[in-house]
Amino acid sequence: MADFENIYAESDPFVRAHFDCLNCGGKLWEYAIQGQMVCEDCRSVYRSSEIFEAQAEA
Ligand SMILES: [Zn+2]
Repeated sequence: MADFENIYAESDPFVRAHFDCLNCGGKLWEYAIQGQMVCEDCRSVYRSSEIFEAQAEA
């Protein structure tokens, strides 16, 4: 039987990203699994790439 390691089972799936919500300015949390970020205040969901691009333009 092959070893199966689910890296997400041991690590916190949420990573606090160093970005602000584009909508309300709240803190964004990154879903490491899905490459998405969610705002802790208004619950807006963004693609991580979308946030990176927006920050690069700022
Ligand atoms: Zn927000």
